[in-house]
Amino acid sequence: MLLLNTILLTSSILFSASQYDGISVVNVHIESPEQLELLRDFGAKSLACFDHSGETSMLLDEEAIRLLKKLGVTFKIVESNIDRRLKLFEEERALARSRGLGGWYSDFKTWPEVNAKLSSFAIAAPEITTTFIAGQTHEGRDIHGIRITAPGDTTGRKQILFNGCQHAREWVAVMVPVYAIEKIIEAWNTDPSMQSYLESTEIIVVPIVNPDGYEFTYANGGDRFWRKNRRNNSGSCEGVDLNRNWSFAWGGGDSTSTNTCSDIYIGPNAFSEPETQAMRDLVNTLPNLVAHVDFHSYSQLILEPWASSNDTPPRVTVVKALSAAMSDAIASVHGESYVAGTGGDLLYLADGVFPDWVTDRGALSYTIELRPTGSPGFDLPPSEILPTCEESFAAVKTMIEFVNQPIAFSFPNGLPEFVNPGELSVFPMVVSSVFNESIDMNSAKLHLRYGNIGEYAQSSVSSNGPNSFLVELPSSSCGLVGEYWFTVSTSAGQVARYPGGSEVLQTTASSVVYT
Ligand SMILES: [Zn+2]
Repeated sequence: MLLLNTILLTSSILFSASQYDGISVVNVHIESPEQLELLRDFGAKSLACFDHSGETSMLLDEEAIRLLKKLGVTFKIVESNIDRRLKLFEEERALARSRGLGGWYSDFKTWPEVNAKLSSFAIAAPEITTTFIAGQTHEGRDIHGIRITAPGDTTGRKQILFNGCQHAREWVAVMVPVYAIEKIIEAWNTDPSMQSYLESTEIIVVPIVNPDGYEFTYANGGDRFWRKNRRNNSGSCEGVDLNRNWSFAWGGGDSTSTNTCSDIYIGPNAFSEPETQAMRDLVNTLPNLVAHVDFHSYSQLILEPWASSNDTPPRVTVVKALSAAMSDAIASVHGESYVAGTGGDLLYLADGVFPDWVTDRGALSYTIELRPTGSPGFDLPPSEILPTCEESFAAVKTMIEFVNQPIAFSFPNGLPEFVNPGELSVFPMVVSSVFNESIDMNSAKLHLRYGNIGEYAQSSVSSNGPNSFLVELPSSSCGLVGEYWFTVSTSAGQVARYPGGSEVLQTTASSVVYT
């Protein structure tokens, strides 16, 4: 026990002093949550946002590396000189900033820079934006946010919350919500569908939930690898993991710790932290909250509820239809794959997280883990900030469209890219009610034209089971491109369209066999 205490104390001093001598970045092949816990007890710090099996980047001192050898764990030291790695990253950032490619998104931005950007949005678009302060941190920093909606009576409008940076070191998770604000404001002036969405929807964005921790990752004498907030735990270790401090399943045993030195320290009680209190109180002022994304990095995942159990979440078909639509939208921008699934499917379970608490309140809530998939972790090259923002905004837009449609569509066998001339292409379509309204199963229509000219021909799509249809898509002459979309109505007569907005699906009539 004395030995263990000595190791913990030594590790803490090394980490909190931000001197990385003797500490390496090591890719460790994790086999079980218990193994990860044991390594944490020896001062190891995981660099992943959520715990998972397989290869995980960790910060380890020499004692912990000796432990890996003793346990027979597979590992690879990828960087033994962390100061050098951080210096290279700083140089890369300085160069990107001086080149300025991508404008404001050429490099990561500090808390004051983000605050200035939020103020500039409010000045540029006062008719649709309201800035607010959600609360103050331990160190007295304001948690800034912005609300965006069309002018007029806002009562009854659907509300969507986007936030970033519960975890301090996940810098790109700040840039993405800021970019979303900028693009929504821009679309208000240029895109009729966004104008109409903002007349029925209010978007609330808090880019930095954890400004104390975020500033600490930039500060001289701070720590680039800091994850938690900056609570003074009256000992040698500071901070609470905000994304373990929410009351839903708080204090459960999945990816949590009661050790103040741990990166996944849950805090003395649920909602003990001013940052989680501020976000909780904000959500409590949103009676029509229908959807939420908590942005993190890294891993390129769209995590559905629940994080804390393998139970089926409420409205599971709708939950999965939206995550699939967001994943498709992201892939359509730069071809990047963000895998959708539950915490239990893709990672180890985690208790006391923000999206579980929001899900429990009835909204559709997700964690999106941004770029990259693995190395170099949250030190994403600055040249990838803008592409990450662009693809994430596609997910944001998809969510806004989705909650403005009463019906969710899914295609279990996919959509046909090609149809054989002279043959019908037959595939299933499944619908589900987003807000528990009943669906008129005789109302489904296919709208189709070939050759990019003329009116769209409308035909009925017949139902072949509860919430299920069999689409028969006619073909045309070889080489012609077909454009089509679907509509289905609720019993109250509200029409849902797939795809959303004014987009169309495409298929090509071709007799070529594609393999
Ligand atoms: Zn995170």
